[in-house]
Amino acid sequence: MPQNYDVLILGAGAAGLMCAARAGQRGRNVLVIDHADEPGKKILISGGGRCNFTNIHTAPDRFLSANPHFAKSALSRYTPQDFLELVERHGIAWHEKALGQLFCDGSARQIVDMLLAECAEAGVTVACGESATQVKHREGGFTVTTSQRTVHASSLVIATGGPSIPKLGATGFAYELARQFGLKVVEPRPALVPLTLSGEDALFRELSGVATEVIASCAKASFREAALFTHRGLSGPAILQVSSYWRRGTAIDIDFLPDEGSGWLIERKRQAPRATLRSVLRAAMPDRLADALADRLGLEGPLANVTDTQLRAAEERLAKWEFQPNGSEGFAKAEVTVGGVSTAELSSKTMEAKRVPGLFFIGEAVDVTGWLGGYNFQWAWASGRAAGEVA
Ligand SMILES: Cc1cc2nc3c(=O)[nH]c(=O)nc-3n(C[C@H](O)[C@H](O)[C@H](O)COP(=O)(O)OP(=O)(O)OC[C@H]3O[C@@H](n4cnc5c(N)ncnc54)[C@H](O)[C@@H]3O)c2cc1C
Repeated sequence: MPQNYDVLILGAGAAGLMCAARAGQRGRNVLVIDHADEPGKKILISGGGRCNFTNIHTAPDRFLSANPHFAKSALSRYTPQDFLELVERHGIAWHEKALGQLFCDGSARQIVDMLLAECAEAGVTVACGESATQVKHREGGFTVTTSQRTVHASSLVIATGGPSIPKLGATGFAYELARQFGLKVVEPRPALVPLTLSGEDALFRELSGVATEVIASCAKASFREAALFTHRGLSGPAILQVSSYWRRGTAIDIDFLPDEGSGWLIERKRQAPRATLRSVLRAAMPDRLADALADRLGLEGPLANVTDTQLRAAEERLAKWEFQPNGSEGFAKAEVTVGGVSTAELSSKTMEAKRVPGLFFIGEAVDVTGWLGGYNFQWAWASGRAAGEVA
């Protein structure tokens, strides 16, 4: 005999637990199933173990989606302030880091414990180590066969995230299920991921370990943060951010001297004609990077001996240094996935599939991806809450 629940949620991650708590508070009988051995594994490792749980600058333009308007409704109805109130109600100490990022003072486990406490108080059952093997839809609900039982529920919420970091239990289950129901999926790609370099660019790999503040740009998106050279290519927050916009075959641009305006090298020549390009660069960035750039620009000798035209060309190159990544480090290293279940298939108010009443997709499974810095959790909370209000 199948067990009956009002709401079955697949995935006990950020979005699933938030949705479960809300649906339970509304008096719904809720079961959450996760195939991992414990809930919230990504939360536990997030933000270097301190969970960057939201960003106070959350706004729809900090999310990528085929429909940039889709996230507006859910984000406006559950804000960073709402999540912060929950965090404070549970007595969790927090602090703001750069760029509006909020972290726990203690540990990310506090966030998981908080969500589980909310679920327990709302009478939600959370079962781990159990995977769904079959989903059937009939009039009045869904029958889901798991590794341990058969469950019937009038609402089915898919909160199984995206395929980034498979070793944490991440899967493309949400996409398979969407396809089973004839729903479109926007091609998933690794995002917030280091990029790899080859050919001429590969020479920069010798700078492995060097970091500097840059403006990295790709496809009209620009981020001023640190870039890090690695033994495979480029990483650091600025690169992770642009990686979400990067597509194979396109370039990314790096401004190595974001504080210098047009004409700065010519001005430097006037002020210090005996300085060299190398010494000027060394004063502005790590020596190894300055040397690598000076070698490639090839303007040796005192600035007084270099023409203004050459200096202007060097300046332009330093402000728009083009890299042609040959790939990324893939889903194994990607913090999130861009793409996912098409927003065209879902209600932006409730996350319910328009063509399959009672079926919901929330969190990273959906084609909404945030910038680095707490935005992805805010989407998980907001979309989970939106579905939890009605499921
Ligand atoms: C290393 C790392 C650090 C991060 N740091 C941050 C950060 O500090 N701030 C931030 O905003 N974002 C961060 N993120 C991104 C953030 O973790 C995700 O965006 C967020 O967890 C997505 O929530 P979700 O509930 O949709 O999916 P998840 O949290 O991934 O939860 C999905 C759940 O579904 C389960 N599952 C998957 N497939 C199945 C299946 N077939 N059957 C049953 N269960 C299944 C998984 O085990 C998992 O528990 C980080 C990600 C990584 C990888």
